[in-house]
Amino acid sequence: MEIKTIAVIGAGVMGQGVAYQFAKYDHDIILVDIAVDVLGQAGKNISNIERLDKLLHKSASKVNVLEKIRMTTEQSAVGSADFIIENITENIALKEQLYRQISHFVADHALLAVNTSAVSITRLASYLKQPERVMGIHFMNPVHLKPTVEVIRGYHTTMAAIESTQELLRSVNMTGIVVNDMPGFVSNRVLMLTINEAIFTLQDGVAAISDIDRLFRECFGHKMGPLETADLIGLDTILYTLNVLLDGYQDTKFRPAPLLKKMVDAGLHGRKSGEGFYKY
Ligand code: NAD
Repeated sequence: MEIKTIAVIGAGVMGQGVAYQFAKYDHDIILVDIAVDVLGQAGKNISNIERLDKLLHKSASKVNVLEKIRMTTEQSAVGSADFIIENITENIALKEQLYRQISHFVADHALLAVNTSAVSITRLASYLKQPERVMGIHFMNPVHLKPTVEVIRGYHTTMAAIESTQELLRSVNMTGIVVNDMPGFVSNRVLMLTINEAIFTLQDGVAAISDIDRLFRECFGHKMGPLETADLIGLDTILYTLNVLLDGYQDTKFRPAPLLKKMVDAGLHGRKSGEGFYKY
């Protein structure tokens, strides 16, 4: 199946990265968000990603990325897409509402990928007319620097849909590892527990922020410690994701650390807000 036009819904941290990566490889992008000012900021951020990418990687594409991206607040624009990648806020109620709304517009031949940290793909697919054409793609952040992603097979997802998705990913120099649908899949089921427990150790006064991160970098050889990773992901997204896991498994091991809740309430959302565990 030829995939030319891709609708990217949600122009936050992940939507910007996804729009950039697919535009860079010459796909036509329709970037949809609810607010015009969010789209304006997204345009600036995407230009910055492009500038840095071209500076750091001499082989970077010659495509003028912003010329490939049409920005709109009109949901109906997704109707002209062959492939839709949804990246809105990690909140089940918001995602459900969106899927019910766009189900009227999605073209019969289109495939839809949910970019989520933990929400059940099978559940979201149930709000669309063709659940067999829906799968998850758990992109990593920053998208253009993390070429391996988790591809999640929902209950009804066909192998043909998975194969087309894998082919599309290869066309933008990415690789998908296919897993089955359970909340948090593999990566975030494990990662969120680790980040949350690291926040508990900070809250309990076991160690300072930088020492918690150093233990993971210097002892385990991780590129980043769990608190640095939390700042990169966004503390609000971590909190949403832990709540989705708590709801999905009904297991209190996923209860969010009170310190995390307090920081989110205080507006410390990590890199994107200028401060989280560290200042940016
Ligand atoms: P974000 O808060 O930066 O951006 C979310 C965007 O969605 C905002 O711009 C918001 O205006 C928009 N939005 C909300 N409702 C909308 C609607 N109905 N229609 C159109 N746009 C809408 O969040 P993010 O970090 O980009 O995360 C997006 C998704 O990607 C989440 O599901 C998250 O779990 C997942 N994810 C995030 C990361 C990460 O590191 N941040 C990594 C992998 C996956």
